[in-house]
Amino acid sequence: MPTQNLGAMQDWTMRITHVIDHAAREAGGREIVTRWADGSETRTDWAGIHRDAKKMAQALEALGIKPGERVASLAMNHSRHLVSWYGVAGMGGVLHTVNPRLFEDQLEYIVTHAEDRVLFYDAAFQPIVDKMKDRWTTIEHYICYDSGDHARSFEDWIGEHDGEYEWFAGDERDPCMICYTSGTTGNPKGVQYEHRSTVMHALAGLQPAAFNFSSASVMLPVVPMFHAASWGLPYAGAMAGIKFVFSAVNDPAVLHELMLREGVTDSAGVPTVWLAHFQYCDKEGLDLPPLKAATIGGSAAPRFMIERLMKNGTRVQHAWGMTETSPIGTVGGPTWDWEQLSFEEQVDKTAMQGRPVFGVELRTVDLDDMASELPRDGKTSGALQIRGPWIIRRYFKAEQDAVDADGWFDTGDVGILHPDGTLQLTDRTKDVIKSGGEWISSVELENAAVGHEGVAEAACVGMPHPKWDERPVLFVVKNEGADVSEDDIIEHLRPQIAKWWLPDAVEFVDDIPHTATGKISKKDLRDRFSDYKLEG
Ligand code: AMP
Repeated sequence: MPTQNLGAMQDWTMRITHVIDHAAREAGGREIVTRWADGSETRTDWAGIHRDAKKMAQALEALGIKPGERVASLAMNHSRHLVSWYGVAGMGGVLHTVNPRLFEDQLEYIVTHAEDRVLFYDAAFQPIVDKMKDRWTTIEHYICYDSGDHARSFEDWIGEHDGEYEWFAGDERDPCMICYTSGTTGNPKGVQYEHRSTVMHALAGLQPAAFNFSSASVMLPVVPMFHAASWGLPYAGAMAGIKFVFSAVNDPAVLHELMLREGVTDSAGVPTVWLAHFQYCDKEGLDLPPLKAATIGGSAAPRFMIERLMKNGTRVQHAWGMTETSPIGTVGGPTWDWEQLSFEEQVDKTAMQGRPVFGVELRTVDLDDMASELPRDGKTSGALQIRGPWIIRRYFKAEQDAVDADGWFDTGDVGILHPDGTLQLTDRTKDVIKSGGEWISSVELENAAVGHEGVAEAACVGMPHPKWDERPVLFVVKNEGADVSEDDIIEHLRPQIAKWWLPDAVEFVDDIPHTATGKISKKDLRDRFSDYKLEG
């Protein structure tokens, strides 16, 4: 019985099942298109995803999977992966989306640590499965999404059930998904999302200041479903009843053709995805696809990328977040004063990381004492901290909280907060360069360097210096056939940054090491150049 002190509204447990029920009921016929790795295509819709998710929930129960237990997916973006997001959560299970690019030891660690009992995988990852099978001791069943040659096929497996199923009625604070971060040091850490945090995060993603979806939106997410819950798009998209176009391969030619043919209005991916698309269009002499909106995140979107997309009439939503933040923290888009800004100023603003969506709070604190809060003056940089209902409290199986007594989670990022709430990310705490007691942003140097037409990729690290403690050294991968010298790079940087920020050396390298999620691994770069010496 409701007590008199409560309000007069209904109970409504914030579970993900509401999201898929809503999509099936209100947008049941809206299409979900998949282009598979073998080139074939299938079409289903939200009603089909809902029906298959129910069958999958029955099939998991028939395997003896219990609420709270983990099952894993090793898969690219496609409709059957989407079914699994809802099917697993619908029977109370927890989907562990495994990043196929992790190294073998990490793959062994995360699957065993999560105690995954079933693995759903793409045939393209059969070699990984074959290699890892003996080391994945907790996995009892292997089910293949797109071929039945080596394992049970997904369609046959769910096909044994009728879909007459009542979703498991658990608590809204129950877990529904787990993603591991691929830190550059130590073992990966598991971040468990809850039903409630996921629903709230997806609602936040619908804000016009975030993904700005309408029912007319057609989204081709390039951000993988195995990375940071694909930025919550599969949930926010269901809430808005949008059409999804998935591609199980990330070939720019395939993406481009799909975007044009399927009327794609929105896409989302890390900067390298957009870069590959630019290069493809340039090589083939094609225009960029006429997208309404492009979400870019995961690493800083370079200025030239933003400019080119904006000139193409595409709204750029530069977003910042991390696995620990579900992941949306901030998203950029036109602000109230947009019309009063020049094009150049609009690009400058978009090159920053946007503003917090409702639900998260940000603050910066002093890098030396990590306690005193810094002013939001658009100048002072400090350690970025965040709190909110979809921000991590504690890593999976950890014994202690990952936040302070007031709920602040230290992101490991360094940034500046502007008076209008815009976040400008300047570095990682581990990568910021301390020269003569002053901080130099390695990221700003890199961003400026990649603006040079001869530069394909740049990474800046602080190298020990006898007088200044550390000084920046810039490692550069040249564009194919580019004729560029150290002096060219320095002259290119000179007007863009403070004089004392200019790198002490520019080193040309054939490649720059990356982490499993495609980010520059400065740790590996430092290891590679551990004997590097700068003269005083
Ligand atoms: P992950 O948990 O693998 O998604 O990595 C999160 C980290 O990626 C953040 O802590 C940032 O360092 C970086 N990151 C994410 N988005 C951006 C962005 N828009 N600009 C710069 N760095 C970003």
